[in-house]
Amino acid sequence: MSVLRYILFPKRCFLCAQILPAFSEAALCGECSLEPYRFGPVRCRLCSGPVPEEAGTEAVCVSCLMHGSTVPGRALLRYTDGFRESIHRFKYEDQWSYAADYARLAIKEDPDAFRDAACLIPIPIHPSRLRTRGYNQALVLAQALSRETGIPVCDILERTRATAAQNQLSSHARRENMHGAFALVPQAEEIIHRLPPGDLLLVDDIYTSGSTIEEAARTLEPALHGRKVRFFTLALKTVTFQEKNP
Ligand SMILES: [Zn+2]
Ligand SMILES: [Zn+2]
Repeated sequence: MSVLRYILFPKRCFLCAQILPAFSEAALCGECSLEPYRFGPVRCRLCSGPVPEEAGTEAVCVSCLMHGSTVPGRALLRYTDGFRESIHRFKYEDQWSYAADYARLAIKEDPDAFRDAACLIPIPIHPSRLRTRGYNQALVLAQALSRETGIPVCDILERTRATAAQNQLSSHARRENMHGAFALVPQAEEIIHRLPPGDLLLVDDIYTSGSTIEEAARTLEPALHGRKVRFFTLALKTVTFQEKNP
């Protein structure tokens, strides 16, 4: 990084946004730690979210059971506090440079997330959103992951309609909202056919109910020819359910 570039765009800790020392290779400042954002040792075999330790390694979490999730994958960290704000800056405030830090961190924290992956498929955003935001954060992330892993990016999904923001919707409404939201680009089948053996890895920023990932996987189905679909997201937002009265 040149001195001028450092003065104009100093590198910042991706959790607290504090300016890091010049020419620092670190992604975090000395005061921030990943520990509060990591998942425990036992994780859901579908969404990778937390499950009680006694549930064992083959357990499926309540959220995946409730939502009928089928696509397995890994989320890097919990969607909370500083990491939630970090993703917000990455997504809405032009902090593209976080993508390289996120990607390096992902390979270090969870190399298994990328094992046997033949390509990285970013979840697309609608052209109208692309015009206002200027970039698709999932594509920027997939490109950074590709630089670290050598796995190619296959940008083969397109958003066919704008969808309402998902965060205020119920589980059923999320599925309805996403239904038919994606299509394959015309060359998709040929692109997949030419890939070396391996799974297709959907890439997105946040996993909540899984409705976006499930719909993207459903869209890919006609072009799979026996390949499996998995996902990688930066964060997993834990869905809480109202507990029944005893
Ligand atoms: Zn920090
Ligand atoms: Zn789960």
